[in-house]
Amino acid sequence: MLSFIRANLPACEYDTWFAPARFVGFADDVVQIQVPNGTFANHLEGEYQDWILRGFEAVGSPKAAVRCQIAGIPALAELTEFPREIRKPLENGSDRLPARSDPLSASYSFGSFVVGASNRCAYSAAMAVSDPGGDYSPYNPLLIYGDVGLGKTHLLQSIARRLLEENPERRILYTKGEAFTRHVVNAVRTQDLYGFRDECSQLDVLLVDDIQFIAGLDRFGRSTEEFFHTLNALSERGRQIVLTANAHPQDVQNLDSRIKSRLECGLTTDIGQPDWEMRVAIVSRKAGALGVDLPEGVAETIASRYKNNVRVLEGVLKRLVATSRAEGVGISVHLLERILSGLPSSRARRRSIQEVLVAVATAFGLPLLRLTGPQRTQEVVLARHVAMYLCRETTGRTLKEIGKEFRRDHSTVTHGIRRIAGQRERDLGLDRMVERLMRQLS
Ligand code: ADP
Ligand code: MG
Repeated sequence: MLSFIRANLPACEYDTWFAPARFVGFADDVVQIQVPNGTFANHLEGEYQDWILRGFEAVGSPKAAVRCQIAGIPALAELTEFPREIRKPLENGSDRLPARSDPLSASYSFGSFVVGASNRCAYSAAMAVSDPGGDYSPYNPLLIYGDVGLGKTHLLQSIARRLLEENPERRILYTKGEAFTRHVVNAVRTQDLYGFRDECSQLDVLLVDDIQFIAGLDRFGRSTEEFFHTLNALSERGRQIVLTANAHPQDVQNLDSRIKSRLECGLTTDIGQPDWEMRVAIVSRKAGALGVDLPEGVAETIASRYKNNVRVLEGVLKRLVATSRAEGVGISVHLLERILSGLPSSRARRRSIQEVLVAVATAFGLPLLRLTGPQRTQEVVLARHVAMYLCRETTGRTLKEIGKEFRRDHSTVTHGIRRIAGQRERDLGLDRMVERLMRQLS
């Protein structure tokens, strides 16, 4: 049955949800599975129940239902709903952290994190290791890696925050890699290495951000050594460790091979670049947090311009808000364009709008001018929307600029893009065509 699941689901879903689960047995025609915590129970009984049942059917042993029990706690089968987060949010989690901890940012929580295809696995894993109902960790250590500005620190701090909200007494150390190195250097200097070790081994949870800096700054091998011992001491006691890095452990320079092999016992998962819809959602959510309402087209334009670093998206938004306040003018696409014209945009090779139009007209077998003309037959409108969609994906131009080429305003462009994004999910033929054009243009 597991081979069936493995063959049919993406590897990361299998690793995240099925690898930590244990088959217990059958009670009549109910499949019983032991899982680490309630998040798993919800997923396996909810989202994956169909897959599991299909798997049993595929191996000639059809079953009727799936029930999960949480390891170490009496069977949960009778509980229909698992209690989810109930505590009230912490005002400021940082005051609960040990003196050595780096502070937590008030804006980083699971609630403010936008989830999409590029970060779903990392998000699920982060949720799973911080599940209030869990009494042992499904993945230890958990390592989240990815390029700068994609949300690793945000997720790591969300874990700390959620665990502290649930139990403020937990001993959690949240530290950046370079700070960990500094603590070790200080401990060596003040001859208090044993004290430091002792303190680390008492932790319930260790969160280290950017471990590449432990490897990178370690001149005498001392911090690597201490880091390795801390990882060992905590894993042996079943304490949760979560780490982040800017690359897969195999690609982190100078990372000790013992640390790499320790990481292999846990789960390594990555965060990729958010797609356009996610970028729009992130900008809108950040604007909400700043207490501003963005007029239509603003979030979309920012998302079209900047692709590979969420921090940069946020920077543009902050600048827009600051300029609008300083000059006493409302936020608008116009103001945004003014700010953007002074900033460099994504470096990726850009296509011109003309190139996109030619490719789309050829693919649809239409005269080029139809795409930008007034005609509204079904086929022409579809081709036009595909062209708008591809302009946004490949040209790095703002919606307003794209609209201008089509002699339409940016909200028409937004509408067209949304339509194609939605239709791609339902219409395989269209999806393939867009995919092919995208490859052709990239
Ligand atoms: P990293 O640690 O990977 O370099 P950060 O966690 O510091 O990145 O994220 C950079 C900025 O982008 C932060 O302000 C963070 O809140 C924001 N961010 C990144 N991904 C998301 C997301 N999915 N939802 C909301 N904000 C995000
Ligand atoms: Mg970071």
